[in-house]
Amino acid sequence: MKTTFPGGIHPPYNKELTASKAIVEMPLPKRVRLLLQQHIGAPCKPLVKKGDVVTVGQKIADSDAFVSAPIIASVGGEVAAVDAEGIEIVTDPEHSRFTGQAPKYDTPEDIRQIIREAGIVGMGGAAFPTHVKLSPPEGKEVHTLIINGAECEPYLSTDHRVMVEQGEELIEGIKILLRACGAQKAIIGIEKNKPDAIENLSRLCRDEENIRVEAVPVVYPQGGERQLIKSLTGREVPVGGLPLDLGIVVQNVATAVAVHQAVNLGRPLIDRVVTVSGRGVAEPANVRVRLGTPIRDLIEFCGGMRDDAVKVVNGGPMMGKAVASLDDPVTKGTSGILVLTEAEVRIYEERTCIRCARCVDACPMRLMPNYLALYSRKSMYNDAEQIHLFNCIECGCCSFVCPARIPIVHYIQKAKHEINSKRRKK
Ligand code: SF4
Ligand code: SF4
Repeated sequence: MKTTFPGGIHPPYNKELTASKAIVEMPLPKRVRLLLQQHIGAPCKPLVKKGDVVTVGQKIADSDAFVSAPIIASVGGEVAAVDAEGIEIVTDPEHSRFTGQAPKYDTPEDIRQIIREAGIVGMGGAAFPTHVKLSPPEGKEVHTLIINGAECEPYLSTDHRVMVEQGEELIEGIKILLRACGAQKAIIGIEKNKPDAIENLSRLCRDEENIRVEAVPVVYPQGGERQLIKSLTGREVPVGGLPLDLGIVVQNVATAVAVHQAVNLGRPLIDRVVTVSGRGVAEPANVRVRLGTPIRDLIEFCGGMRDDAVKVVNGGPMMGKAVASLDDPVTKGTSGILVLTEAEVRIYEERTCIRCARCVDACPMRLMPNYLALYSRKSMYNDAEQIHLFNCIECGCCSFVCPARIPIVHYIQKAKHEINSKRRKK
């Protein structure tokens, strides 16, 4: 058993609904809506207006900020609307098949620029612009690239299927990422519940001296950057620091495949694989879908909702967010769309904290979730910050184990949001 991190939980994984299902491609949607902010960082500004005709792969929005990533037309067609939040395109199927050319490159900076122009961000859910992560600041050197194939969120199996079905492309992507960030070696970390992915990538890496596969224990949140680093290297990212402080860069498996496609094939980020699952959808599946596709169309493609469906979640059940409208689009960070039944959704009445400390034991960041919840709920933000509110990775382990059913992570998120908006106003 490898070294692992403190805390963690074992929720019901429910991966059997889709884990063995090969990726299927969804037909082109009639229209797409591409949000101007699909990433961490500055939102983009539109480069097109209503009535313009765009081709698939064309950059349609961008920003001057370093921490940002452009928006690429995922289909060809006519721009039907441009508003403060996004750009809508009516699909022209004749002009939606991408036929690009591999760009030329020489230096790591060239590679980072291609990755940026392709609109690539972290596809594991966090959506941090990839070119930024690959640019160590002056004086910092990267020695290790970690490829995150843990996929610890229940239900999700997109990374799993990508590792089984697109292993060659993944290895090519890793080679490019190694060049781009200057690391000497790469480690692919995969949870042990994906033996076929471990087997496939181990076989493909057999002759690669500087890329190896490591199986890691199945424990949520193994796929958290800090947790995976601890499991694979035994080292801890300092409080308030970044993996770069340890000379490590972490990238998700789907991101590495997107990097291969952009740099070796000239294909920008126009689609992604999404796990559509939960007992509230008729035919759970792993679907390759164009970015901007309405969630409603994606669910329809999977046979539609069952009568007992009560909630739709964008992402996994631990860290995902409830979908407000089925017209919301798939974004670069959408790893899953879950349609859940009442039996799968925990709806409980909150009770009083009994000071059992189970949340403290479960916290992978060694925080005191009980006090974070208390201070956050009472708007005692200074006290909450004193006990490291902002170190919380919002994994939800605390809420999951709490016998009093206190939605701890919800209080924490609310406090962070309020503090951040107060700071922005100042
Ligand atoms: S949500 Fe935050 S406080 Fe709760 S267990 Fe995860 S890191 Fe700890
Ligand atoms: S797990 Fe819940 S009841 Fe127990 S100490 Fe934490 S907040 Fe209180």
